[in-house]
Amino acid sequence: MKDIQKLFPSMDGNSLQKEELLSYIDLLLSKIDELKDPDKLTLGAMPTYTDDYYHTLIDKAGIPQQGVSMEDVLHELLNSIEGHRYVNRNYVANAAPLPNIASILGNLVMVLVNGNNLWDVEGPAAASAEIKITSMLSKLIGYDESRSAGYTTWGGQGAVFNSLRLAISRYSPSSNQSGIPNNLYCFCSELSHYSLFKSVEATGIGVENLIRVKVNHDHSINLTDLEEKMNEVINKGGIPLYILATMGTTDTFGIDDLEGIKELSEQLEQIHGIHPIYIHADSAMGGMYTFFNDYDFINNPLNFEDEVLLVLNKYQEKFKHINLADSLVFDFHKLGQTPYTTSLFLIKNRDYLKYVDLDEEETPYVGNRGYGSYHTNYTLECSRMGSSLTIYSSLLAFGITGYQELLANYIRVNLAFRKKLKEEIETVAITNEVSPITTFRFYPERPKWTEELNGLLTIEEMLEINDYNSEFAEVLGLERETIYFGNTSKQCLVEAINSNKRVSIYAQKFFTISPYSTVEEVDRYVQFIKTHLNIFQRTRKIENVLK
Ligand SMILES: *Cc1c(COP(=O)(O)O)cnc(C)c1O
Repeated sequence: MKDIQKLFPSMDGNSLQKEELLSYIDLLLSKIDELKDPDKLTLGAMPTYTDDYYHTLIDKAGIPQQGVSMEDVLHELLNSIEGHRYVNRNYVANAAPLPNIASILGNLVMVLVNGNNLWDVEGPAAASAEIKITSMLSKLIGYDESRSAGYTTWGGQGAVFNSLRLAISRYSPSSNQSGIPNNLYCFCSELSHYSLFKSVEATGIGVENLIRVKVNHDHSINLTDLEEKMNEVINKGGIPLYILATMGTTDTFGIDDLEGIKELSEQLEQIHGIHPIYIHADSAMGGMYTFFNDYDFINNPLNFEDEVLLVLNKYQEKFKHINLADSLVFDFHKLGQTPYTTSLFLIKNRDYLKYVDLDEEETPYVGNRGYGSYHTNYTLECSRMGSSLTIYSSLLAFGITGYQELLANYIRVNLAFRKKLKEEIETVAITNEVSPITTFRFYPERPKWTEELNGLLTIEEMLEINDYNSEFAEVLGLERETIYFGNTSKQCLVEAINSNKRVSIYAQKFFTISPYSTVEEVDRYVQFIKTHLNIFQRTRKIENVLK
C-alpha cells in the first residue's frame, strides 16, 4: 500500500509531499508557458488531423499493466495539449473564456477537498458558496434573495432543461407520477439556442410542440408573431406552458423584450383563464450584462466613452426586466471568464422546487438526518461538483466594477472593429447590432445587406452570397493558428423576392472574449481579413476564368 499511498496528497500536511505536488504543478505551468506565443492561437503546433487520426488513437489506447511514473504522466498530459487553442488576443471566434486566476484557484480548492455539492455534510464549502452566490446574484438582478433559490448545473443548456422540468411539474404536479400531459406547448424565437429543442425531446413534450417565433431586425423575438402563435395554440385546446426569452442570442446577441413577453402572457392568462405561463430567461450569453443594472449612467464613474455608454445604457433598459422571468442562468464560463462548467441556475421562487423534490424515503443515503441541512435532491444530478466555489472566487476578485470594465471592453473593441472593417473593406456589410459579437458578410461586388434584409434579392442571389462567405470562411479557418474568427450558417432567416421559403444567412463572426483583445489589436484583425480576402478574390477570379 505504501506505493499506492504515494499517489495521493499527504494525510498530515508534511512539507515533503507538498513540495512534490508543487513541483508537478510548477512543471505543468512552466511547460505551458513555454508554449505560449502571443502571435499564435495555439500552444505549439496543431496536430495534423489525418483521416485516421482518431482511429490511430483508438488502436493505440490501453491501460498500462503497471502504472507509469508521475513524470511520464506529466509528459503525456503535456503532449496532449500540444496544439491546443489558447484564448489569447488571437481568439475571436466564440464565447470561450480564458479562466481568470481567482476562478482557477477556486476550482483547485474544490478539487483538493473534493466536496460533493449534493449535501453540506459532504461538501460544506461548496454548499455555503452556492448559497452566497445565489444571494449575491439575486440581489444584482432584483430577485428577492429570501425567496429565490439557485444551484449550479450543467451549463446554460442544463438551466433550460431544469426550468422546463419546473414548468411542467408546476403546471401538472401529478406529472411526476403519471407522465406529462400531451397538449403542452413551448415557445422560443427561431434564433434561440438548441437547448430547448433538446429539452422538449428529452422531457417527452416533443419537437412538434415547440413553436418557433419570428424575430425582428435586431434579432429579438417578434411579439406580434408570438401572440398569434400562442393564440393559435390556445384556440385549438393546447396549453401554452413555457416561453424561452433569449437574452443574448448565441450568434448575434439579440435580446428579447422580457417586459413585453411578460405583459403578453399575463394578458393571455387573463383573457383565457389559463395557468401562469412559465418564462425562463436564457441569459447564458447575455446575463453578465446585468452587472450594469445599477450603473450610474449620468456620472459614469468608470469613465466609459460615450459610444460604449450608449450601448450599455440600452442593455440596462432590457436587462433590468430580467427579474420578471421565473428563472434565468448565469453562464460564467462564457462572458464571465471562468473554467467549464460554471453555470448558476437561478429561480425566482424557491417554492417551485417542492414540485420536483424527492420524497425522503427515496433518498436513503444522504440528507434528512439530524445533521446537515443543505441537501439538493431536487437537482437532476446526484453528485455535483462544487463549481459554486469557482464562481464565488471570481465574483470576489472582480467585484462589480471589475466585471463592468471587462464587459465594457468587449463593446469597445467591437465598436472599433466595425469602424475599421468598414473603412478598410468596401464589400463588407455588418449584420447585427453593436454587442460583444459582430457578424459581417462579404459580397462579391458591393454590399447588399439592406436589400437582402428587406426581401429584395432572389433566392439564387442570396445562396451565391452564402457560398461566397462560406468559401471565404474556409480560407480564414485554414489560418486559425494565427487568428481564429468564427462563422455561422444561420445568422438569421431572410425572405427572398422570388420564393416563400426563407433563406438562412451565412455570416462571419468576430467575438472578442479575451481580456487581451483590446482596441490596439483591431488593426491586426482587420488587416488579416483584408489580406486573406484579397487572396481569396484573386484565386476565385482565376478559378472562374478556368471554368
Ligand atoms: C451557449 C448557450 C447555451 C448553452 O450553454 P452551455 O453552457 O454551453 O450549456 C444556451 N443558450 C444560449 C443563448 C447560449 O448562448
